[in-house]
Amino acid sequence: MALIVRIDVDRPYGKKGIVRHVASRLSSDYRLPRMNWLRYLDELKTILRILSANGKSAHVFFRKCTYPTADVCELMEAGGHQFGLHLENSRSAETFREELRCLEKEVGRRVAAFSKHGSGRLRLGRNHFAPYEPERYLPWGREAGMKYFLGNLEDPELRPAQESGLLYFPSAFWLEPHWRDTKKYPIEWLLREAAERDIVMLLHADNVTASPEIMRDFLVAIERLEAAVLPGLSANLPR
Ligand SMILES: [Zn+2]
Repeated sequence: MALIVRIDVDRPYGKKGIVRHVASRLSSDYRLPRMNWLRYLDELKTILRILSANGKSAHVFFRKCTYPTADVCELMEAGGHQFGLHLENSRSAETFREELRCLEKEVGRRVAAFSKHGSGRLRLGRNHFAPYEPERYLPWGREAGMKYFLGNLEDPELRPAQESGLLYFPSAFWLEPHWRDTKKYPIEWLLREAAERDIVMLLHADNVTASPEIMRDFLVAIERLEAAVLPGLSANLPR
């Protein structure tokens, strides 16, 4: 019984500081060269290092504009973290397969899990298909040989289920209070719950590093709880 740590990597340069904020927005819409001088994926590296220091591993979900660099891949490997797809263009089975193929090629391995960028309310950029339609994604995932879909609903009481051949977690405990009923579900609730069953804790690295309160809750959770990663597919793509 454990915490399943889910990190959605939304912004390549975080959102703190106007230049990095604008660079994150533009990279999401247009293919720009990586700007390492703007500290590409810096916040993710911070979170991965904290997890590793605590002997905990996570599922990390990447968009095209946040693909991991070689040093991030090293951190992922060393920490036993799993690569996942953060689905952006969910318009059709074809666009889904295209995103999956690109990510698998980029990281050189099969990807077993995916999550969806955005919860259906807002269109988040030029390449984003906004509707949130898990019932469409589950068969796509199964056909692609994937094993897990981690959903975006905000009621952390919903239990995982086997659906359309995938293990489906409909909701998560959103670490950022913006998406959580913090009175009903404080961090203490998570501590109790994760001691008894598997539960997904969702976070965005740049929100955690930007807020002392969120960082405190993050540290409480990873220091006090067991974390587990769901078993992946065979590590490498056939060449
Ligand atoms: Zn996202």
